[in-house]
Amino acid sequence: MLFNIHTHSEHSHDAQAKIAELCEKALAEGLVGFAVTDHCDCECAANPKAFTSLTDSFEDCQKWKARYQGRLVIACGVEIGEALYDPAFAEKVIASRPWDVVLGSVHAVRVPDWEMPFSLIDFSDFSDDFIRQYLHVYFDDLKEMAKTQDYDVLCHLTVPLRYICGKFHRTVDLSEYDGKIDEILKTVIKRHKTLEINTSGCTAERSLLMPDEAILDRYLAFGGNNLSVGSDAHVANRLTNGLRQAAAMLKRKGIDELTYYLNRSPVFCSIE
Ligand SMILES: [Zn+2]
Ligand SMILES: [Zn+2]
Repeated sequence: MLFNIHTHSEHSHDAQAKIAELCEKALAEGLVGFAVTDHCDCECAANPKAFTSLTDSFEDCQKWKARYQGRLVIACGVEIGEALYDPAFAEKVIASRPWDVVLGSVHAVRVPDWEMPFSLIDFSDFSDDFIRQYLHVYFDDLKEMAKTQDYDVLCHLTVPLRYICGKFHRTVDLSEYDGKIDEILKTVIKRHKTLEINTSGCTAERSLLMPDEAILDRYLAFGGNNLSVGSDAHVANRLTNGLRQAAAMLKRKGIDELTYYLNRSPVFCSIE
């Protein structure tokens, strides 16, 4: 009984999935449902499509939500990236439609000259010291986002590692950031938000969860108990990628309930 809190449709600039395909895949895989959470990249606020692509996503999602009613729970959401770059735009987007769920994400950080999304940066030639500084800014930005911005689910904590370590094979000692990470976790708990376990880095060979088990253990130790799983699928055949691995890991830790959102209110479903 899994609900996928995080997917992208063709209304995201970097995704291809039609919502109809996501629906059929979700039924075939036996999901309770999923949220469509197309990108709102606040650094692109000046581009008129930044706003209209989201209203298009919302209208499209509403249509499929109605068609699959009774068979699938479909949440119409949005993934706000870099709210700190343009908080007014983030607020405008959130207020513009009755979203079911708002994801809070950081995909780019305020490092001078390197403010583009980290997915576009080649980290292979940077010094270890630059990467350390870069990650400090990532956790600082995420911490500020977590504390000051409007969201329901804090997404893919530690996601730069997917590129820095996964793609460019650089070594990172995460313990240096423990203090900042703990502050983010405590903020999520204090503000009654939900922490996403993002499975987009999982492959057949390895299960790279974001955040990893060590961080999840600290979240639980601090009293956190609102968790979602999200595959961050950009194509329909990755809809359930890693979700069952994540759910099995959560069950081993004694967690038997996941959180999703409708009308921006939490709904709890048991992991079976
Ligand atoms: Zn994201
Ligand atoms: Zn995403």
